[in-house]
Amino acid sequence: MNTFEKFTPPAEGERIRVKASDLQVPYRPVIPFIEGDGIGPDIMRATRRVLDAAVEKAYGQERKLCWYEIYAGEKAHEKYGEWIPRDTFEALRYYSVALKGPLTTPVGGGFRSLNVTLRQELDLYACIRPVRYFEGVPAPVKEPWKMNMVIFRENTEDVYSGIEWVRGSEEAKKVIAFLNEEMGCTIRADSGIGIKPVSETGSKRLIRKAIRYALDRKRKSVTLVHKGNIMKYTEGAFRDWGYELAREEFADRTVAEKDLQGTVPPDKVLINDRIADAMFQQILTRTDEYSVLATLNLNGDYLSDACAAQIGGLGLAPGANIGETVALFEATHGTAPKYAGQDKVNPGSLILSGVMMLEHLGWEAAGKVVIAALEETIRQKKVTYDLERQMEGAVRVSTSQFAETIVGNMKGV
Ligand code: NAD
Repeated sequence: MNTFEKFTPPAEGERIRVKASDLQVPYRPVIPFIEGDGIGPDIMRATRRVLDAAVEKAYGQERKLCWYEIYAGEKAHEKYGEWIPRDTFEALRYYSVALKGPLTTPVGGGFRSLNVTLRQELDLYACIRPVRYFEGVPAPVKEPWKMNMVIFRENTEDVYSGIEWVRGSEEAKKVIAFLNEEMGCTIRADSGIGIKPVSETGSKRLIRKAIRYALDRKRKSVTLVHKGNIMKYTEGAFRDWGYELAREEFADRTVAEKDLQGTVPPDKVLINDRIADAMFQQILTRTDEYSVLATLNLNGDYLSDACAAQIGGLGLAPGANIGETVALFEATHGTAPKYAGQDKVNPGSLILSGVMMLEHLGWEAAGKVVIAALEETIRQKKVTYDLERQMEGAVRVSTSQFAETIVGNMKGV
């Protein structure tokens, strides 16, 4: 039994356990949730309503999500005087699977983003962003339905590791002197310095997750996206380690593009690679040729937003940050403070992150109930303001009405 200093776990429900990276999910798992700031409470309420109804629709009274509120952000600061109390980390480690609303990054000198803190402290190294089209959503391309990609973005390394020094600082001067005097570089004295570490360990564990996902979900390919023609020992190495990993650990279930003769055998996943700038063209021109993408941190950041834009924006784009044992599912947008408490915004991104969570638990039937009902709701054009203003003949509904309409459209499986 875990002990929490400040939080009280729910009386009902059991803990999910992780054994050798396999989840053991009880019928009544405790699911911690962080409500989030700004629009967080509105979209979290709507999401829990939809997920609970879907679980009931799929499994009757046999299964149930036992929600456990834990705190981060403004609510944590008001209640406990801390932005992320120790209990929050404890609960996430102990219960392994959680849902999170968006968090404000408090403005102020040296304050680290709460999201980045959570990802780093819990080593949530894979950011997973599935992007698919929902019929009827206004999109800027001619054939948005061709998009069905899942992006695995490395979350801890690359230029995002936060190792940087401001121009003129003692640290920057020291690094520049070392590089110029001892390594033969010619860096200008008035340069800011940032470091881009990319490790074999970090790359391989991310690519391993992407390949396993492709195998489990019967996806046809994993594309290693990189800029290795220019950055050979970081981005190029990411590609090389990817192929090496596929050979070493998945030899009988993958085939590299260069070894391919004819078509890909049905029981195998194709491993290929593309240079990042070409990939941005490919997502537009050959959209349906790609399925799972494995990327470094910066490329993945750009690519996932570009893919989401292609299917009509971030409103329906879910995400998860996953490590060896902990998985945190969250909306991809921010706190939209101007709409806080107005019961107005689109809860779609958090609802779909909840669907990812259900799939992670192995509760696919409940996930399917949500997807089918959401598709039906969009077909009926009963949508929140962000979609309504772009859809001809649509009816504007509130966040909570949107959730109720989805629940009303649920069919058993
Ligand atoms: P934002 O995503 O909050 O808003 C960008 C635009 O999208 C705004 O016009 C907003 O009104 C709209 N929008 C966002 N979510 C919507 C929804 N569900 N339905 C309809 N419209 C929606 O981004 P921002 O304004 O750059 O950031 C606001 C705050 O959110 C900042 O404090 C930032 O640090 C934080 N943030 C948090 C996360 C996270 O927790 N993962 C991510 C991004 C930003």
